[in-house]
Amino acid sequence: MNTKIVVVTFIIYFAAMSENSFSQEILKFYDLNKAESSVINNKGTETPFTGKYTNYKDKGTYICKKCGAALYYSSDKFESDCGWPSFDNEIKGAVKRIPDPDGLRTEIECANCGAHLGHVFTGERLTAKNVRHCVNSISLEFVPAALLESGRYGTAIFAGGCFWGVEYFLQKAPGVISVTSGYTGGTVKNPTYQQVCTGNTGHAEAVKVVYDPQKTSYDKLLKLFLEIHDPTQSGGQGPDIGDQYRSEIFYMNDDQKYIAENDLNILKSKGFKIATLVTKASEFYPAEAYHQDYYFKNGKTPYCHAYIKRF
Ligand SMILES: [Zn+2]
Repeated sequence: MNTKIVVVTFIIYFAAMSENSFSQEILKFYDLNKAESSVINNKGTETPFTGKYTNYKDKGTYICKKCGAALYYSSDKFESDCGWPSFDNEIKGAVKRIPDPDGLRTEIECANCGAHLGHVFTGERLTAKNVRHCVNSISLEFVPAALLESGRYGTAIFAGGCFWGVEYFLQKAPGVISVTSGYTGGTVKNPTYQQVCTGNTGHAEAVKVVYDPQKTSYDKLLKLFLEIHDPTQSGGQGPDIGDQYRSEIFYMNDDQKYIAENDLNILKSKGFKIATLVTKASEFYPAEAYHQDYYFKNGKTPYCHAYIKRF
């Protein structure tokens, strides 16, 4: 059996597996009880101070109870004393705003499935962002950060130049639960940004993507990664020159390695002179907090990453 057949067999096998679990997932998320349905489908409001996430402080991601889409990070949750979970930021593109029929307020819905979440208010000066997403606990499901690492979700690590830009595009991909900017592939433990910037630690600026295998696949995310940076540039990316800006796929297991090599071979067969390295993943060190969600926090757009169709 040649490599191509092995890869195709793997892909068919995983597609069949995920099809099966996907239908179970749909059932789980659409099987709303009466109380959930009255808020989520009929735009009701739970009684204040009764929801299970009102004073919840654990680290993780809040997803839509109806469809499982990632909506809010716990790092954006704050105490507002209003009786409902409050966030001053949503995951980019995850929440839709619509004028409430009351003519005064702005309703918020899951952008993916239209589930009613609550309302959003501005100008209350409760946090620096001056925004309060007032969300019904019952519209949410919490996924602890520890569970994101447990195997229920898939993990992918990619390096393609400045991590701000790679993070920006992958965060918007369907099925992505979280993206963390960081450093990997080097020899120094717990490196700082300043150390990595010297280009002497061996680390690449990279992102760790946690995704829901029922809603996307490693292959889809990898192809997107290869279309948002230039996999033919060696020694840097765009204007950023240096080993820390190299293009590299850090695979977590043999399946990811096969898929990575296969996708790169597809690009090579189309005439691309690929510079992307394929390397077994080693320890990933999250970057300093100010690098996380950089473009979103700063209201800017990437300077050296853009989507270009290659597959
Ligand atoms: Zn939803």
